[in-house]
Amino acid sequence: MGDGGAVDLELDRAHSARMYDYYLGGTTNFPADREAAARAIAAFPSILTTARINRRFMHRSVRFLARQGMTQFLDIGTGIPTSPNLHEVAQREVSRARVVYTDNDPIVLAHARALLRSSPEGRTAYAHADVTDPEALLAAPEIRRTLDFGRPVALSLNALLHFVTDDHGAHAIMERLKDELPSGSMLAIAHVTTEFDPEGIARLTAAYRAAGTPGQARTREEIARFFAGWELLDPGITPSHRWRPDPEDIAAGDSDQAAACYAGVARKP
Ligand code: SAH
Repeated sequence: MGDGGAVDLELDRAHSARMYDYYLGGTTNFPADREAAARAIAAFPSILTTARINRRFMHRSVRFLARQGMTQFLDIGTGIPTSPNLHEVAQREVSRARVVYTDNDPIVLAHARALLRSSPEGRTAYAHADVTDPEALLAAPEIRRTLDFGRPVALSLNALLHFVTDDHGAHAIMERLKDELPSGSMLAIAHVTTEFDPEGIARLTAAYRAAGTPGQARTREEIARFFAGWELLDPGITPSHRWRPDPEDIAAGDSDQAAACYAGVARKP
């Protein structure tokens, strides 16, 4: 794949990556995505703000991880390229940073070239993989070629795990990914929660399910379990816009209801 061969983009049905792109004002979305996005927005109008806040958390957490000394990044559920991408944020801090992106959506694969414009000193790679098969994901040659699992890796799953239901064994998947990483590795997660607006999020989840994408918003405690055994770094798990906010995040004056996500960063002891 990725060689220009035929990739079925399933343009007749909505895909979460393209709906998210639409919320962010991107152009990589199609009528079925926009129709499903319109229904999601009707169900939970704050979703446009949620997406913007989530993207800002990615920027701040990656900058933080790089400043903590992380030089290797594994990002799962990358999404359609949206400037700045994770490697740009990381390589701005540490030009030799190595980044592997993964997603299971063919549209992300089709646009992966935009994710591969690394700094000359660093490296980026893209692995087409599904997080619900962590063995296959961890064995991906692009990951093994680019990252050294003998040294700490920063693992990020931003706005991904709410698409992995308990039926898929979300927590067991997370434990498998965490097991693979050495001491000193770090984990960043942003995840939709039921806690600030249970009814709005129930409507949103129903809208996604109707569009063919099952999902599961979680409580703070369920989200905290994804970090189990690792040390949460200050300020712990917070609404995503309150995690180490920059002045502009504070100035935006967003509510927890609109953030709709919990976020945190932890270190493997
Ligand atoms: N991490 C990015 C994009 C979030 S959108 C950000 O925070 O800005 C969620 C992404 O997860 C989409 O691109 C979707 O294709 C991807 N995704 C959903 N289920 C997945 C799975 N089982 N395996 C890998 N990626 C998945």
